[in-house]
Amino acid sequence: MKVDFTPERLNPNQLIWNSNRRKKETVVETTASLSPEKIKDVPIKQLWGTRKRPDFVQLTTLISHIDTAHELTTIRAPFTGELIGTVPICTTEDVQMALQRARDAQRSWSKTRISERKAIFLRYHDLVLDRQEELLDLLQVEAGKSRLTAQDEVFDVVINTRHYAVRADKYLRPHRRKGALPLLTHTMELHQPVGVVGIISPWNYPLALTISDAVPAILAGNCVVLKPAEETPFIALFAVQLLYEAGLPHDVFQVVTGKGRVVGPVFIKEADYLCFTGGTSTGRLLAGQAGERLIKCSMELGGKNPAIVLDDADLDKAVTGIRGGSFANAGQLCVHMERLYVQSGIYDRFVPEFVRRVKEMKVSPAMDFSADMGSLISQDQLDKVTLHVEDALQKGAILLTGGKARPDIGPFFFEPTLLTGVTPDMKVYADETFGPVVSIYKFDEVEQAIQMANASSYGLNSSVWTRDVRRGEQIARQLKTGTSNVNEALNAAWGSVDSPMGGMKASGLGRRHGMEGIMKYTEPQTVATQSLMLIGPNRFMPPVLYAKTMTVILKLMKAIPGLR
Ligand code: NAD
Repeated sequence: MKVDFTPERLNPNQLIWNSNRRKKETVVETTASLSPEKIKDVPIKQLWGTRKRPDFVQLTTLISHIDTAHELTTIRAPFTGELIGTVPICTTEDVQMALQRARDAQRSWSKTRISERKAIFLRYHDLVLDRQEELLDLLQVEAGKSRLTAQDEVFDVVINTRHYAVRADKYLRPHRRKGALPLLTHTMELHQPVGVVGIISPWNYPLALTISDAVPAILAGNCVVLKPAEETPFIALFAVQLLYEAGLPHDVFQVVTGKGRVVGPVFIKEADYLCFTGGTSTGRLLAGQAGERLIKCSMELGGKNPAIVLDDADLDKAVTGIRGGSFANAGQLCVHMERLYVQSGIYDRFVPEFVRRVKEMKVSPAMDFSADMGSLISQDQLDKVTLHVEDALQKGAILLTGGKARPDIGPFFFEPTLLTGVTPDMKVYADETFGPVVSIYKFDEVEQAIQMANASSYGLNSSVWTRDVRRGEQIARQLKTGTSNVNEALNAAWGSVDSPMGGMKASGLGRRHGMEGIMKYTEPQTVATQSLMLIGPNRFMPPVLYAKTMTVILKLMKAIPGLR
């Protein structure tokens, strides 16, 4: 079913929603933050150059059920601060309507064959690859990331889409289970869709963390309502447009834009499952609310991820890998490295080489693959990163490189930064910075490094660098993190989508990827059929005989391998 209105135009110069189909009076709303002078110079086309610009007005028509005037919010490009578009701020009623439409659609969607769902997602897989240049441009413009980081997002969606489209049938098919009584009980384990899934996603990976979590939910027979982060609605809308092009019915996946504190409570009240990715404090709040209503949820939250470099590590590989794993997306990546533990035997070679290679990094808004690092997303992020670095330096940390904002490059750029001499009284020691700042610590014994790595309230990702792979794996097993990589910072575990990914401790609840990543969107159901006799005493078997017979049967069930 299609959205039943078309906004005739969304004119950025006047910020007017013009609802035509219902012939309603047009109401003018403007965002308070925009002065008329600023509005005049939009949209500036500097970043797009000759590239194909998405039709932002058309994309806003995909927002679920906006048929009246709405307050608008402006979306700016972090590279330059340019206005790239405006989106309506959905109200509680909009979200309720989207959920209702999802609920109505889910009844028929859950009855479609898995092969039909699979065909849509395999078409989507190809569409994403074919249209990746547009996706990369939009990801860079809207999220301020380097092209390489944007590329990671595209690959993530493609890999997850293929994985779940190909395997959904195997994951979801009913399984025969051992019955209560051999031969007499026929037992099946089924996985029914939960119903309507609300997804709330962050701005840092606005394509991967919206679509890759939605694909298994939809394949499992659910309908999804997505609330993308306030900063990055257009990439979600573009990705959903491609899903519609691939043949997904519109009400099966809807997008509502706007504020988390408006959308969140409606999801909690009316959805059947909440998939949240974001900060730990928001996750705690939402998990508590989900607990009140006893709806299931997954919480993919923050991290303060450690890397351990052993004396026998391959120096060049470790420096390259940890640099990539620390500064990908300007450190705005939940699984990136913020704590680096280097063994004393390699410390004096590793640190100067690491500093040299970090100093070499090209930080720029280049719309090609030449930049090693892009921008932070916003002033809030810049303020937080600056605060962490200034606080550390004031309290005696040593700056090895970086440490400054770079307004000469763009409004929110910050240099890749390395610190030593970091102590527990500094914010950067234990709090997630979520920026391009890494603290380096020296250690002598491996046990010491394991202990320091585990001394965190977070437990998302970790990495170990050594030429002795078996030893590396033994150390990885002792790290209290949901994923741990040996001789990789993050890509090995993140890219292994057949295996679960998520956080221990304050880094979250539940997992994405692998069997857990799709089964979480289902309700397991056991259907057991009893033949011949009831289980329990009956007319032909009084209680004493029943107790004796059962005792014999239980003994046989232990003794005969096929019955165990
Ligand atoms: P955030 O928690 O502020 O926001 C995330 C989303 O939640 C946004 O869509 C926001 O609108 C919404 N939101 C905010 N307050 C809400 C509320 N009261 N009710 C409902 N929704 C609400 O986080 P952020 O700053 O956007 O993202 C950065 C954080 O996300 C970091 O801590 C990072 O580590 C974490 N993260 C985790 C993962 C993971 O997989 N574990 C992945 C990416 C990011």
